[in-house]
Amino acid sequence: DLNPSALMRQTLLGMSRNDQLRQVIEKAPFSRDVVHRFVGGATTEEALRVATELVDTHRLVTVDYLGEDTVDPQMAEHTRDAYLEILARMAEAGLTQDGTVEVSLKLSALGQALGRDGNKIALDNARAICQAAANVGTTVTLDMEDHTTTDLTLSVLHDLRQDWPWVGAVLQSYLYRTEQDCRDLATEGSRVRLCKGTYKEPESVAFQDKTDVDKSYVRCLKILMEGDGYPMVATHDPRLVEIATVLADKADRDADSFEFQMLLGIRPEEQLRLAAIGAKMRVYVPYGDEWYGYLMRRMAERPANLGFFLRGLATK
Ligand code: FAD
Repeated sequence: DLNPSALMRQTLLGMSRNDQLRQVIEKAPFSRDVVHRFVGGATTEEALRVATELVDTHRLVTVDYLGEDTVDPQMAEHTRDAYLEILARMAEAGLTQDGTVEVSLKLSALGQALGRDGNKIALDNARAICQAAANVGTTVTLDMEDHTTTDLTLSVLHDLRQDWPWVGAVLQSYLYRTEQDCRDLATEGSRVRLCKGTYKEPESVAFQDKTDVDKSYVRCLKILMEGDGYPMVATHDPRLVEIATVLADKADRDADSFEFQMLLGIRPEEQLRLAAIGAKMRVYVPYGDEWYGYLMRRMAERPANLGFFLRGLATK
């Protein structure tokens, strides 16, 4: 009983995991221009430039080195080193103090899926990145991937927070479990990025209906705003941005005790509006060569993004 837009979403999410298609599209000549809107460049240099522009326009930044589902330990080390490099470069440019530019990590890119030792490899790599972030005065947030990794990711979060209490987590309102996870994490010093969730999840673990996902988002946000942690409201949804403002007000939070977060290239005018009224507004800047899975998930979320992509195809 899928409607056309749900069918499109399922298809694109399926494509996001298709390796052959990835290889074709990543290498196609049109790709560079088309991805530019949503990806902060292929190199550290380009990401640094994009981050600087955002900071100059009163926005905070979190950078994400693209790569997921790493299949060998060397790739995981390469990803770790990319983070160490960008942290050093951002610090040199004076961008890391007080968390102005922080980093977001995917544990699967750091080795989480590498068999029996995967979690330990990912944890060790994440530790090296957290230490480097601590040295330059900024923070780290662990992205959340599909539901089969939620428990592992939360246990890595728990371990990392023993040494660096500011390590943040992402929770996804489409999962039934998330209200409880919000309760568990709404504690002093805890940074929680709440998003709707972007993977294809079965009915056994996740709401399928958009309205249910949105209602769950509001319940989760209420818990986070009323709790003692630091909520990070990651959504482009105008209604949820409005509700977040009301809930923060009701919970007597001042403007710097929570922040809004949006993805690079999505609703930039709204990002600037929020920054201009004194809200903390952080932009998620993905960069690197492996943009395929990321871009396909953005297409699945919004047909207009797909139109943009296809127009790029047609004109190249
Ligand atoms: P949607 O339901 O997609 O959109 C709601 C409304 O927002 C739309 O009706 C429209 O009014 C507006 N809107 C959305 N897109 C546009 C656009 N392009 N232009 C204009 N208006 C638009 N997901 C994960 O699963 N794990 C993560 O770790 C993760 N990290 C994230 C980090 C950040 C900072 C952000 C912002 C998102 C992250 N996501 C993550 C993705 C998230 O789960 C959603 O898939 C994504 O944000 C789209 O959901 P939405 O809240 O914007 O609402």
